[in-house]
Amino acid sequence: MAMKRKVGLVFPKERMNQPVVCDISRRFDLSYNILRAKIDVGMVGKMIMEIEGDRDVTERAVNYLRDGGIIVIPMPESAVVNREKCVDCGACTGVCPTGALSLSPAGELLLDNEQCVLCDACRPACPMRAITTQHDLSFD
Ligand code: SF4
Ligand code: SF4
Repeated sequence: MAMKRKVGLVFPKERMNQPVVCDISRRFDLSYNILRAKIDVGMVGKMIMEIEGDRDVTERAVNYLRDGGIIVIPMPESAVVNREKCVDCGACTGVCPTGALSLSPAGELLLDNEQCVLCDACRPACPMRAITTQHDLSFD
């Protein structure tokens, strides 16, 4: 059964010019979507990518990336809202670029995991520090 999986990738500079990421859609029966990337010419590159395909196929693709010298970092499905801290103020919904965060008609914060691209914009926007993105891939 097809599934979606988010992974973080770190490219050592000696791997920057190799088309390993494009290769995975040619070599494996899957599709991918680049959610976030920061690649400086001649330096380390970073990327968050969503892969969609059968579980075993996505696993083989991830191993292919690792074998190609790319560091693969597991990613959560989405940002996480601590409901005990959240006061449903809506501040985070204004900065979320994908509409993953919204307020229900009753005024309760909703998070659509599928829409989240792990951009991290919501975390600093929350006055209650109620949001975490729980991954170790910094784009600063
Ligand atoms: S991490 Fe980005 S996409 Fe995900 S909920 Fe926060 S602002 Fe929206
Ligand atoms: S900004 Fe923080 S407190 Fe306000 S709705 Fe979002 S998560 Fe809740």
